[in-house]
Amino acid sequence: MSTSNIDGIPLAFAAAASRLDPRQDNYVPDLTALILAQARQHRASDVHLNPCELELQMQWRIDGVLYTIAGFDRDLSGRVTARLKVISGLLTYRTDIPQEGRVAREYSSSEIRVTTFPSLYGEKVAIRLFAGNDQLQKLAQLGLPDHVEVALRNSLDGTAGVILVTGPSGSGKTTTAYACLRELLEHSNGTRCLMTLEDPIEVAISGVIQSQVRPAVGFNLATGLKSLMRQDPDVILVGEIRDPETAEAAFQAALTGHLVLTTFHAGSAVEALTRLLEMELEPYLIRSALRSVICQRLLRRSCESCAENRRNSAEAEKFADKNRAHNAPCTQCPVCGGTGYYGRLVLAELLEPDSPDLVQGLLSRADSRRLGALAESSGMKTLRQVAAEAVARGHTTLEEVLRVLGGRPG
Ligand SMILES: [Zn+2]
Repeated sequence: MSTSNIDGIPLAFAAAASRLDPRQDNYVPDLTALILAQARQHRASDVHLNPCELELQMQWRIDGVLYTIAGFDRDLSGRVTARLKVISGLLTYRTDIPQEGRVAREYSSSEIRVTTFPSLYGEKVAIRLFAGNDQLQKLAQLGLPDHVEVALRNSLDGTAGVILVTGPSGSGKTTTAYACLRELLEHSNGTRCLMTLEDPIEVAISGVIQSQVRPAVGFNLATGLKSLMRQDPDVILVGEIRDPETAEAAFQAALTGHLVLTTFHAGSAVEALTRLLEMELEPYLIRSALRSVICQRLLRRSCESCAENRRNSAEAEKFADKNRAHNAPCTQCPVCGGTGYYGRLVLAELLEPDSPDLVQGLLSRADSRRLGALAESSGMKTLRQVAAEAVARGHTTLEEVLRVLGGRPG
């Protein structure tokens, strides 16, 4: 199965669009509204309108993967783009500069951002559809492996230490960090002071005091953290550690009796350790302050409804075991539109640097290969092991694991 081989969603869109009458005055506004409504209905996070030589190609990103949905006449394409610019307050007469805006509330009750970019055959438009309410709000909704969720909850029960949520960009780190914050909020019943320092604030959480840095006036993550400590917080969420100063300030905060939640760019939990060492953080500081490192990836979750269809089909029954890993989707599936996937799954590995061997490795600044071996011998299940288990349980597919992790699961 190719990841972009779908029929259901383009067909559903074409059917809906064919009900509009091009001779009506309102055709372009109606078509534009239909594009936004249909994209949202099919859970797209982004809509791309790509001007090509002969047509305007429309693609949607669903569960992180881009699908081609439709092509419009070139004549129509300029009018749809113009309409999008009108409802998001952009200058329609300027097609030669990049522009950014948001769709006015009268056209959409949830947040939609529109950006345009001049290109060879006209303006490319990218539309970001923000989920009205994020489905992954609570820790239990993330679908973390059980052992990771249990260990993470334990760490959140602590009163001090750094909890690092790591992964590449687009791996859902911020979502996990916010879910942890909500969990802490719920459990503290107002007995803990929760504060954040972010760049920028991505989601507002009632009950948490959130601040956004302003580097232009010298209020950055590192300086902000030092001032924030005088506000007597119990729990601090630091948006993302990107430099040694912020890392140092976050770890010092944890040493002085604060629970610090933060995100960090790293491909694996062990890589996070070595990157902290490279940032010249003293090994003893890491050892004393770090409670746990999570490293995660977002994968598409196999569609339950397709799985159900396969189970019900006698023909599929015969090959069920053989074809399980391929997880062929049902092209007519109304739930996933034939993609074979519905929603996301968080794969994660969790490292708690407390085994004596691992601590020794850290203190002696062992290289990442050695640290990796020590982490595994101390019982850490790696991302690949967790991925293989998720495939075996039918939660996702081997293709999807290879798409996100590369190589072969081992
Ligand atoms: Zn399906």
